Amino acid sequence: MRARFDLDVSLHRTAAGLAMTRTAIAVDRTPLRIQGLAGSSLYRSMRAAGVPAKAVETYIKAIATRLSIGRDVSATDRFDLIVARERAATGETRIGALLFAGIDQERRTLQLVRFAPAAATNNQSDLATAEGEDAGRGGWFDANGQTERRAVSGMPVIGRITSGFGLRVHPLLGFTRMHKGLDIGAPRGAPIHAMTDGVVSFAGRTGGYGNFVKLVHGGGLASGYGHMSRIAVASGTRVRQGQVIGYVGSTGMSTGPHLHWEVWRNGGAINPRSVSLASAAQLSGPALRAFKARVARLLAVRTGT
Ligand SMILES: [Zn+2]
Repeated sequence: MRARFDLDVSLHRTAAGLAMTRTAIAVDRTPLRIQGLAGSSLYRSMRAAGVPAKAVETYIKAIATRLSIGRDVSATDRFDLIVARERAATGETRIGALLFAGIDQERRTLQLVRFAPAAATNNQSDLATAEGEDAGRGGWFDANGQTERRAVSGMPVIGRITSGFGLRVHPLLGFTRMHKGLDIGAPRGAPIHAMTDGVVSFAGRTGGYGNFVKLVHGGGLASGYGHMSRIAVASGTRVRQGQVIGYVGSTGMSTGPHLHWEVWRNGGAINPRSVSLASAAQLSGPALRAFKARVARLLAVRTGT
């Protein structure tokens, strides 16, 4: 009788009753790596290459945290993924969670590794086991040990804060009112970066904000960027932290080139400087070592075996 994927149990009648014999079944846990051309449909190409449907979906979700599948993936890009796999000596194969999601593009290579820092550091002695156990959890980390963060000194544009969050006498209106954001003075044309990953919910001209971009992030967070000279993203598209979404200008109600930056939590304006971006966590210490060990093991997996 097959008790487990890696265990056979047989029962024998003896004079004293039933005796049980446990026979371990050897299991090879080399993960499965599949690579191929993206083609005209990434989904269809991956399925045709033998990637299980669930792994394709997970892969696309992972990649979509860093780039826009519809816009940034071209037919000549190559996908590269690794899924957990167990092969029993008795012939059966089990396919598990997606462990690695990569894409080779002309200009860059994206390599994401699923990793749960807490699980890895709590169980450093047996990474092989941890890999199986936490494979379905954790976040997608870039293979260099960081979530891909080109942080711009914590602000969307390099510049000087010229007006803080709170009550102020409005420079044009001349009366006291709430300033629901931060003004950052910067030269016209300076790039404005998304504060964190998100989706563009508005990109266009709106009243006193001039050329304005609004991003919706996870966790009830949203951010807005006003007075742009030029907008670099379209409504409905996904952006990565650090991605250029527009350029500093003085459109709308503005006295000179600056970025008006607003952040909302659950619909209410909050001080942008009070936001700590938990998603920007980078690995360090034991978690980073465990992560690097996993990356090395995964990238050593060959295709087609
Ligand atoms: Zn402002």
